[in-house]
Amino acid sequence: MEPLRLEFPIGWSMGSVNAYLFTQPEIVLVDAGVKTEACWEMLVDGLAAHGVAVRDLSRVVITHPHVDHFGLAGRIAAESDATVWICELGAPWLTDMNGMWAERMAYYRRDFLPPLGLPLETNELILRGMEGLAAHADAVPADRVVTFRPDGVLQMGGAAWQVIHAPGHASAQTVFYEPETRQLLSADMLLAVTPAPVIDHPPSGKKRAPSLPLFLRSLDALDALDIDRVYPGHGRPFGDHRAVIARQRERIAGRKGQCQELIRGGCDTIPALLESMYAHQPPEGRVAGLWMLLGYLDLLLNEGAIVETAIDSVNHYQPA
Ligand SMILES: [Zn+2]
Repeated sequence: MEPLRLEFPIGWSMGSVNAYLFTQPEIVLVDAGVKTEACWEMLVDGLAAHGVAVRDLSRVVITHPHVDHFGLAGRIAAESDATVWICELGAPWLTDMNGMWAERMAYYRRDFLPPLGLPLETNELILRGMEGLAAHADAVPADRVVTFRPDGVLQMGGAAWQVIHAPGHASAQTVFYEPETRQLLSADMLLAVTPAPVIDHPPSGKKRAPSLPLFLRSLDALDALDIDRVYPGHGRPFGDHRAVIARQRERIAGRKGQCQELIRGGCDTIPALLESMYAHQPPEGRVAGLWMLLGYLDLLLNEGAIVETAIDSVNHYQPA
């Protein structure tokens, strides 16, 4: 059975976000939009178009704990008997939202942002943007949450979907693959355009995970699968996943090469690199660019092509 796509135009987060519906043998919703009254109405109408009401939902399965994908899960749980399923890695974002956001904000403020050497107003823009996101989701009561393993199996639409852990855009992200009919619910792992590799806070005392190298490894894992149809978290379903993956790898390799050239030319700080590589972007766009730039630097550092040195607690980059 094919998942039915519900699309919620929300004006941000790539313009719209998808949820997917299985109506048989039980009613399962994959992802849950964003917490606004308008999105709730679109969800109610979208379900109704398939003869389903919110109270009929038996399970909500969340691909990854970003607010545009689980925002309405708490309200659905309040207005139905549905359980909310998420990979064990991401569950705290649903059950302890305030705690997780406080940890993320503290990590950004204290550890992550200062060594980037960005102007204070840019840091404030990033922090305010992050903080604002928290309002777009409700927490889900812990006794309504069911966790699954990052290598588990989910029964949806009368088929067994393999869970595949796919970090990169979010460290706790999972995608779901049905090998019989070769369908992939790809979350924000595989979209028509490369998703921003958002930096998650690491367990305390640990170094953050390099998000773009992880993303590329997750792409490799999907490349190896036989897939007929991809159902992404944003945008329309598509086929030919290998062409999409090849395009993204090529683009990333090209931009990484530009970044390396700039460093060879003496452009040695993140603000200078951001200015050179994202000059065409308005300030908000440059924040999205920052995630990619940090990813290119992570790749170059991993390859041993550049070295990172802290000068007055700000990171500088030189060819290795
Ligand atoms: Zn998303």
